[in-house]
Amino acid sequence: DEEMAQVGKDERILVSVRMRPLNAKEIAGNDPSDWDCLNTTTIVFKSSGQERTLYPTSYTFDKAFGYDCTTQQVYVEGAKDVALSVVNGINASIFAYGQTSSGKTYTMTGITDCAIEDIYDYINKHKERDFVLKFSAMEIYNEAVRDLLSSDSAPLRLLDDAERGTVVEKLTEETVSDQMHLKELLSFCEAQRQVGETSLNETSSRSHQILRLTIESTPHMFMGKGNSSTLLAAVNFVDLAGSERSSQISSSGVRVKEGCHINRSLLTLGKVIRQLSKGRNGHIPYRDSKLTRILQPFLGGNARTAIICTMSPARSHVEQSRNTLSFAICAK
Ligand code: ADP
Ligand code: MG
Repeated sequence: DEEMAQVGKDERILVSVRMRPLNAKEIAGNDPSDWDCLNTTTIVFKSSGQERTLYPTSYTFDKAFGYDCTTQQVYVEGAKDVALSVVNGINASIFAYGQTSSGKTYTMTGITDCAIEDIYDYINKHKERDFVLKFSAMEIYNEAVRDLLSSDSAPLRLLDDAERGTVVEKLTEETVSDQMHLKELLSFCEAQRQVGETSLNETSSRSHQILRLTIESTPHMFMGKGNSSTLLAAVNFVDLAGSERSSQISSSGVRVKEGCHINRSLLTLGKVIRQLSKGRNGHIPYRDSKLTRILQPFLGGNARTAIICTMSPARSHVEQSRNTLSFAICAK
């Protein structure tokens, strides 16, 4: 089976950068675009002046998507193979990383929808196996884990399970009856997701969101052929909190505290990703944050990972854009 042969061939982390168009506010404020997409892999800083000598002027990744690229294209080239490995029993995670308003949720929502289409396509074409899909969703806000499928907002505990590694205690796991049901579950999560206002004057999310689709397949009783074993894996769609520093967040005590936690989770994720991209040797600090503990069973080993870093081309965001590009370079 050709699809099977593809799996596990490339275990490196797939790192892409997507630049969104200038938004209405940036255009109205005469905020110029400082970045261009040179080709399918390289982002360049195009402004002249002192800036050029202080920082790199070009950054190369597995994929670079300019402002005119569609989400479908970002999905096909930056996430599809990783997402679809789940149907063959390989764990996968897809991350959206970037500052608030850079396009994480826009990109991740689109990728999730595309992946679900393709997963159901695959299932419908492979009648020789029976597939059971389960969906769960959680949010990490201020290092507290909340079930996005439950209206009870009480924080959930993490437990160490001898077989499965870290598990989220009492997390709802819905058995998905069909594609429509899955769409309904996604809308429910969207409504539940916590949002906050920041001094960036945008509605932004201060939390990490993990949507997890678990797929188990077994050979069909009569049509079964080929792989006779049970396959079990999950794909995680992770919409990370804004990567901006807490100094950019307004002065209220609560907000600053949130910023600190977010930075800790993102900092730890950065360390974990860097270790994994270097070849998975030595100590990997999964246990230093809730986000990485929860994702540990789905990272490393045979698992597949894709990271889409999102950025604004606007001059006013140049510092955050450089931070995002540096994160992306380190993840490669
Ligand atoms: P984030 O989740 O990183 O805070 P959003 O995904 O909410 O950012 O995007 C901020 C705004 O920009 C939204 O109104 C979104 O629709 C828009 N946007 C983001 N990326 C793109 C894009 N590639 N093309 C067009 N609009 C985009
Ligand atoms: Mg968002």
